[in-house]
Amino acid sequence: MAYSLCKILDFRSLNKARFRASEPCALRLRASFAIFRFMKTVLLRGSHEPVPVSKILCIGQNYAAHAKEMHSDVSAAPVFFLKPTTAIIKDGGTVILPSISKDVHHEVEMIVLIREGGTNIPREKALGHVAGYGIGLDMTMRDVQGDAKKKGQPWTLAKGFDTSAPVSEFVLASDIGDPSTLAVELRVNGTVRQSSKTDNLIFPVDVVIAYISQFITLERGDIIFTGTPEGVARVQIGDTLAATLRKADGTALTALTVTVR
Ligand code: MG
Repeated sequence: MAYSLCKILDFRSLNKARFRASEPCALRLRASFAIFRFMKTVLLRGSHEPVPVSKILCIGQNYAAHAKEMHSDVSAAPVFFLKPTTAIIKDGGTVILPSISKDVHHEVEMIVLIREGGTNIPREKALGHVAGYGIGLDMTMRDVQGDAKKKGQPWTLAKGFDTSAPVSEFVLASDIGDPSTLAVELRVNGTVRQSSKTDNLIFPVDVVIAYISQFITLERGDIIFTGTPEGVARVQIGDTLAATLRKADGTALTALTVTVR
């Protein structure tokens, strides 16, 4: 509830130019709720209300085996890019392949939901800023990305198209503990295509949060895609993509299933 009020106040301040002080508070609140309805939200297990998403940050090539399959060198510091929140779809949703691409790939990734924002967050305090962990797909137009790389252009179109960010429900960070003890898995039409452990991350979650927050303020409701392991491949219309975040013993923590159209 406190969180909702906080966001409403944010919206009211954003929209104060539209309202005169004499207008009823109820009217202003109704307008704020209307804006809230259009925001993309995600689910945090145990929370009574959806969490509005602020921004999506994605780490590139954070598993050595994936960097190798992409014929890329491992960077000395995390490489990251943004997706718009309009890219989000949820469990049961549909990835819609853009007509400009003939090579859309799946990239399964552990995802992180930020609970408390900050700037210059120290590594030793970084995990305290996390609300929860989930599983997501960084859908990528590989041919469009390859073309952008050659021309030195941004990856925004290749990575940020509508439906390019399927996300699961998030599991509370307090129920996870150490996020480097988990496993990510993607099955395509029932066959395992990607499978790895989060202790293979070149830059673990605390390092990523500390690094990003030096340059871009993290906010409550931000999502971080932590990078994909090896095994990325083209998807086809009609495919079913089933991603799972597991404990080290194989127990499923949260899952996501989408279809491709
Ligand atoms: Mg990725």
